[in-house]
Amino acid sequence: MKCTRIRCTMLLACTIGLLPSLGLGIGAAHAKALQAPSKDPVYRAAGSTNTTNKGQAFDKRRELFDQMSAITGVPWYRLAAIDQYERTMTKARSKTRQQLGEWLGIYMTPAQWAGQLNPDDEDQFPLSIRWFSGSGKDGDGDGLAVRTSDADLLYAVASHLMNFGPAEDDFSIGVWQYYHNTRAVQRIRQFSRIYAAYGQLDLFEHAFPVPVGNNYSYKGTWGTKRSWGGYRIHEGTDIFANHGVPVRSTCYGIVEVKGWNPYGGWRLGIRDLNNVYHYYGHLSGYDKTVAVGTIVKPGQTVGWVGSSGYGKPGTQGKFPPHLHYGVYRDRGLIEWSFDPYPMLRQWESEERKRLKRN
Ligand SMILES: [Zn+2]
Repeated sequence: MKCTRIRCTMLLACTIGLLPSLGLGIGAAHAKALQAPSKDPVYRAAGSTNTTNKGQAFDKRRELFDQMSAITGVPWYRLAAIDQYERTMTKARSKTRQQLGEWLGIYMTPAQWAGQLNPDDEDQFPLSIRWFSGSGKDGDGDGLAVRTSDADLLYAVASHLMNFGPAEDDFSIGVWQYYHNTRAVQRIRQFSRIYAAYGQLDLFEHAFPVPVGNNYSYKGTWGTKRSWGGYRIHEGTDIFANHGVPVRSTCYGIVEVKGWNPYGGWRLGIRDLNNVYHYYGHLSGYDKTVAVGTIVKPGQTVGWVGSSGYGKPGTQGKFPPHLHYGVYRDRGLIEWSFDPYPMLRQWESEERKRLKRN
C-alpha cells in the first residue's frame, strides 16, 4: 500500500506520512490524500450551520428516528448513523446527489427506489416496487412509497436492517449488504457509537487543539510546495508550543488510529460526525484514557505536544516541538485533505469568547 507523504513547512526535518484510513480494509487501497480547495464547505454544512434551524433539525430527526425505532426495533443511534453518513456523502458529492427528504440525508437513486428493471422509475406503488425488487417503502402509511418522504426513506433503510440481528456485528453485516463498501460500514459503526455514547444528535461543537492562553503560534502554511524528496505539499497546520502542552480533541469523535508512524511520530487520528479525520502528529505521548475506539469530546486531552517522528519508534528531537494538525474529508472512496487554518482561527476565537464569559 502506498502512503501519502505530508511535509511540514518548518526547517528541514519535519515530514509526516500518513494515510488516514490505514488498515481499514478494501477502501484503503484506493485511498489517496489529495489537494482540495482550501475553503471546504464541510464545516458550513452537515449539521454545523449556526442558525436556530439547527436545533429544530436535530429535534425533527430525532423524532423520526425514535418513531422508526419503535416500529422496527432498530436503535435510533444506528438509524442516525446511517442518515448522517448519507448526509456527508451528499455534501461530498453534491453534483450527483441531492437531499431528498425534508430533514433526513438518506439518498436513493430512482432505480434503487423503484427497482432496476421497473419501467416506471417514478413508481410509488409499494406492490409493484416490491415486484421489481426496489428498496422503496411506505413508512408513513399513506399507501405510497414516496422517494422524497422522510418516513418512507427511513423505513426503506430500517426495514432492510430488520433482516439482521440486534448485535453490532449483525448490524455491520446489514450495512455491508446495503453499501457493499467496507469504509461505509466502518464509518456507520463509528457514528453509531458516538451517538450511542452521548445520547443526542447535536455533537458538532469544536475546540482549539491546544489550550487557548498557552504560548503557541501557528500560521496558514497549507499547500506550501516542497521539492525535496519529490513533489509534496504541506497538508496541515503546525502549531508550535512547548513540549508537554496538552493536545486536545477538536471535535466529538472516535479514535480511529493510534501509534507510531515514521514521519508523524506518535500520532493520533480521530473521526468526527462530518466524516472528517483529524490527524495529530509528533506527540510526546498519549493520555492514558485514549485507545482506538475511545469516544472523545471537544477539549478533551488526548496527548501532549512533542517532537516525535522522522525515524524509528521513539525518535524525537529532530525538530522543535510542535503539533501537526491535519484534516481529511472522506468522499466515500478517497480522502481529501483541506486547510484546517480557517477553522483553527474560528475555534480559537470562539474559545477566547467562551473564556471571557466565564
Ligand atoms: Zn506539519
